[in-house]
Amino acid sequence: MIVDRQGRRFRNLRVSLTAACNYACTYCVPDGKRLVAAQDELSADALVRGVAYLIEAAGIERLRITGGEPLVSPRLDAFVRGIGSLGLKDIGLTTNGQLLARKLPLLLDAGIKRLNVSLDTLDAEAFRRIARGGDLATVLEGLEAARDAGMRIKLNMVPLRGQNLDQVLPMLAYCLERGFELRFIELMRMGHLSKPGAGFAQQFVGMPELLELIAAHYDYVQADAPLDATALRYEIPGAGTFGIIANESVPFCRTCSRLRLSSTGWLHGCLSSSNRHYVGDLLDKPRHQALPALQGLLVKALADKQEIAFAGGVTVMKIIGG
Ligand code: SAM
Repeated sequence: MIVDRQGRRFRNLRVSLTAACNYACTYCVPDGKRLVAAQDELSADALVRGVAYLIEAAGIERLRITGGEPLVSPRLDAFVRGIGSLGLKDIGLTTNGQLLARKLPLLLDAGIKRLNVSLDTLDAEAFRRIARGGDLATVLEGLEAARDAGMRIKLNMVPLRGQNLDQVLPMLAYCLERGFELRFIELMRMGHLSKPGAGFAQQFVGMPELLELIAAHYDYVQADAPLDATALRYEIPGAGTFGIIANESVPFCRTCSRLRLSSTGWLHGCLSSSNRHYVGDLLDKPRHQALPALQGLLVKALADKQEIAFAGGVTVMKIIGG
């Protein structure tokens, strides 16, 4: 097992199935153009082999499928079927929910029971302004269908000053009514937001302000979370739970166990580092040749992790998988 001086190791893998996305969220894509798939995206077979090799070489236990938007990928079907037999403890998927109703039978059939759905507002006009793609009603229909099918659902919301702060309480009420866990993600200085003057500070809303907004309407207590969880969790007794991924206010780098594999075959050990390590060529090699080389690259990827706090990065979330 590869472990660093702080005792960190890779346990959780995120695979970006494609860089393509049917949204162009303002904080993710600066020019508003929706993304297309990269020319050199790996086949589903190669990505499944990547997961299998990383389970062995790094001790990966849990997998999250992401993107881009994973549900737009033509590789989704083969990939979810391929990873089902790898013995992972947990498989989840992060999606914007636009194609959720349509893809639900496939996800259920592949044994996926946990979804994180990104939704920044319940206001149709604000939705159009922030996501710059898709349709709110379609997402809400997908969420109802997934809930009826017994999926465990978390909603991810990025609070943005001047754009959706009025939605914090309506989103929380919506989630509590349906048994969804709402998770607020503090805005990260990634991609264009890492550049000075890009408006990060003006849009950023931190955990203390969120908790104050919530405290005006709900009593809550801090709840348990796994040691390497990114979210701080809170319970509203008798009503449900919510979480805050407070990458700026309460950095979680010291316990981070995440590794990312991009759709084009690059390993990323840290969201806040622009270092990446190419493994695409190794995934065509047999196990006995691939694993030693992979282990060398994993040592480098682990060394890319920040010591204490997230410092921002030029890498764009949609490319490496949020
Ligand atoms: N398309 C999928 C989705 O919408 O969930 C998966 C990819 S998306 C990049 C994953 C998550 O990253 C979303 O919840 C999105 O809101 C979040 N995200 C993207 N850029 C971000 C940023 N700069 N700060 C915080 N969250 C960000």
